[in-house]
Amino acid sequence: MEPADPIARILIVDDDPAVHESYRMSFTPSADKAALADLAAQLFDDVAADEPPPLRLDLSHVHQGAEAVAAVERSVRDGAQFAVAFIDVRMPPGIDGRETARRIRSIDPDIQIVIVTGYSDFSPAQVAQVAGPPDRLFYIAKPFTADEVVQTATALSHRWLADRALAETRAALAAKIDELEDQARELAANESKAIRLANRDPLTGAPNRLAFLRILSEQARRPGNFAMAMIDLDRFKLINDTLGHLVGDELIRTICTILVDRVGTDGFVARLGGDEFGVLLHADTADDAVMRCERLVRACSGDLQVFGHPIHGAASIGVVMVSGEGGRESVDVMRRADLALNEAKRSGRGVVRLFDDSMDESIRFRRRIEEGLTQAIANHELALLYQPIVAHDTLAIVGFEGLLRWNSPDHGAIGPATFMPIAEESNLIHDLGDWVLDTALACLAEWPGHYVSVNFSPRQFRRQNFVGHLVEKVQRAGVSPDRLQIEITETAIFDDAERAADTLYRLRQMGFRIALDDFGTGYSSLYNIRKFALDCLKIDRSFIDGMGRERESAAIVHSIIHLARALRLQVIAEGVETEQQLQALRLAGCSHVQGYYLSRPVDGAAATEMARDGKVPGAAQPAVDPARP
Ligand code: C2E
Ligand code: CA
Ligand code: CA
Repeated sequence: MEPADPIARILIVDDDPAVHESYRMSFTPSADKAALADLAAQLFDDVAADEPPPLRLDLSHVHQGAEAVAAVERSVRDGAQFAVAFIDVRMPPGIDGRETARRIRSIDPDIQIVIVTGYSDFSPAQVAQVAGPPDRLFYIAKPFTADEVVQTATALSHRWLADRALAETRAALAAKIDELEDQARELAANESKAIRLANRDPLTGAPNRLAFLRILSEQARRPGNFAMAMIDLDRFKLINDTLGHLVGDELIRTICTILVDRVGTDGFVARLGGDEFGVLLHADTADDAVMRCERLVRACSGDLQVFGHPIHGAASIGVVMVSGEGGRESVDVMRRADLALNEAKRSGRGVVRLFDDSMDESIRFRRRIEEGLTQAIANHELALLYQPIVAHDTLAIVGFEGLLRWNSPDHGAIGPATFMPIAEESNLIHDLGDWVLDTALACLAEWPGHYVSVNFSPRQFRRQNFVGHLVEKVQRAGVSPDRLQIEITETAIFDDAERAADTLYRLRQMGFRIALDDFGTGYSSLYNIRKFALDCLKIDRSFIDGMGRERESAAIVHSIIHLARALRLQVIAEGVETEQQLQALRLAGCSHVQGYYLSRPVDGAAATEMARDGKVPGAAQPAVDPARP
C-alpha cells in the first residue's frame, strides 16, 4: 500500500464570504489542470523528479479573529496544527488581523502567518512587532490571484512539514542522548562502586592490600621522606582458636578503628590481610617514625572488650624509613618493613623495630662480598684461568679466554657470575679489571703467538679514556695490541651506540681485536651490528646447548654463522661440550670453538704448556677430515 499523501491544514480568516469563495475556487483543481498534469506525467515520466512530493491541503474557514484564535487553540490541543493561516487585516466588528496574528502566534509558535493586506493597512514591521518571527510571517496584497495563494500555501506547507519532520528527528535524537547519558552515569556509578569494592577490605571497610600498594608506590615515587609501618597482632591465632572467628573478626575491626583514629589524616591505614595492617606515616626522621609507632603499639595494647570478652590486645610493628629522592620501589619498601616486623616478633612482642640494612640477608651478602673483594687483590685471592679457543678443523689453539676466579677465605671459590655484578656496581670493577688485564698480558708474554681474550663489563668499556688506558697497558707489557682480544657484550654497546661505535673504531685502529660476547641473547638485531668494528662473534652457550634439542637454536646458530661470514667475521661457538655439537658446528661452517669438550679453563702454567704444544691435550687428531666436510 502506498503511503497516503501528507496533509497540511490551512486556516483562512476573513470576514467577507466572497473572499472565502475565491479561496475555495483557487484551491479546487480544475479538470484542465489535472488532465494537463497527467499528460505531462505520461510524456516525461521524470518530470516529477524535481517537484516536491504531492501534498493534500485541507482548508478551514473562519470569519472572525476570535474564531481563528479558538480554531488554533483546538488544533494545538488535538495535535493537528495548521501549517499556514491566511489572515485578513480588517475584520469588523472583532479584533483586527494584527491582533489575531499576535494571539495565534502566542498559541502556536510554528504556524506560518500570511497577512493579506490592502495599501492603507499596517506596515509589515508593525505586524512583525507582535507576530514575529519574520521567517514565519508573509504578506500578500489584496486583491490576490489564485496562483499566488496556491503557490504560497503549497510552498509554506512543504516547509512546515519539513520543519516538523526535522523537529521530530531532533526530539528523537535528544531523547536518545538523554538515554545514553543516563546509561553512562549508571556505568560510571557501577565502575566507581567496583573500584571501591576492589580496593576495600570487606571486613573492616578499610583500604585493602591492593589500595595500599598503589598509594605506597605513588608515595615512593614522589621525593621526600615518609615511613611505612607493618603491624601484626600478637597471639591473634590463639584468640581465633579459643574464642572463635567471630571474636577474632571483631578484634580486627576494633584494632582497625584504633589505628585509623590514631593515625588520623596524617597518614594512611590499610588491612593487608589476616591480622596484618600497613600504615604510611608522614615522618621526617626515623626517631619521629619510631616514636609514633610506639604510640600505636600502646594504643593497641590495652584491655579491650570484644563481644563481652576481656582481651589483652598486643601488636608488633616493623617500620622502615623511606628517604631521599623519588624512584623507590614499593615491593622493596614492603619487604623491608616485613623484615623489620620479623625482627620485632623475634625480639619479644609488643615492640617496634626500625629496619636497617643488617636485617636484609641479600644486602648483608652484598656487603660481605664487597668488603671481601676490596681485600682480594692485596691478599692474592684472585686467579685468572685460561680456556683455549681452537680452530674448528685442526683444533689448533688460536687464543685463550681469561676467566676470573676468586678464592675467598669466607665463602670459598666464588664464580664471577656472583661477584662481578656486585663489583660492577662500585669502582671495584676497575681495580679487578686492571688486575685481570695485567695478569693476562704477563702470561701472554710466555706464549708463542696466541692472543688472550679478556672480558670487559659495560662499565669498564664506558670508562673515561678506555682506549688510551688499554694502549698504555699493552705498551707497558711490551705486547702487540693484536694479541689482545676485547670481549664485550651487546649491552655495553647498545646503551650508547654512537659512542660505542666510536670507541670500537678507535680500538680497531690501534690494532686490538674485538669480540662480541654472548651474541644472540641481547637485543641487537643481526642487521644492527654491521656498523660496529668487530673481528668476531661469540655465539652464546645457550644456543649451542639447545642445538641438538630445538630447531630454533639450530636455526639461530646457522644464521649467526651465515651473517658472520657475510660480514667477514670469525665465529666462536662457546660452551661446546660434546662431539656431536662439534660436528654440527663444523658442518654449519663455524670457524672456532671453545668449551669443556676441548678443555676446561686451566691455570696460567697449564695454558702456557698448551700454547707451546699448539693444541689441546687429547685432541691429537681432528675428528673429521677438514678436506671433506
Ligand atoms: P662468559 O664470558 O660468557 O664466559 C663463559 C663462561 O662459560 C665461563 O664461566 C666459562 O667457565 C663457562 N664455560 C666455558 N666452557 C663451558 C662449557 O663447555 N660448558 C659450560 N656449562 N660452561 C662453560 P665463568 O668463568 O663462570 O664466567 C662467567 C661470566 O663472568 C663470563 O661469562 C663473563 O661474562 C664474566 N667474567 C669472567 N671473567 C671476567 C673478567 O675477567 N672480567 C669481566 N669483566 N667479566 C668476567
Ligand atoms: Ca666471554
Ligand atoms: Ca660468553
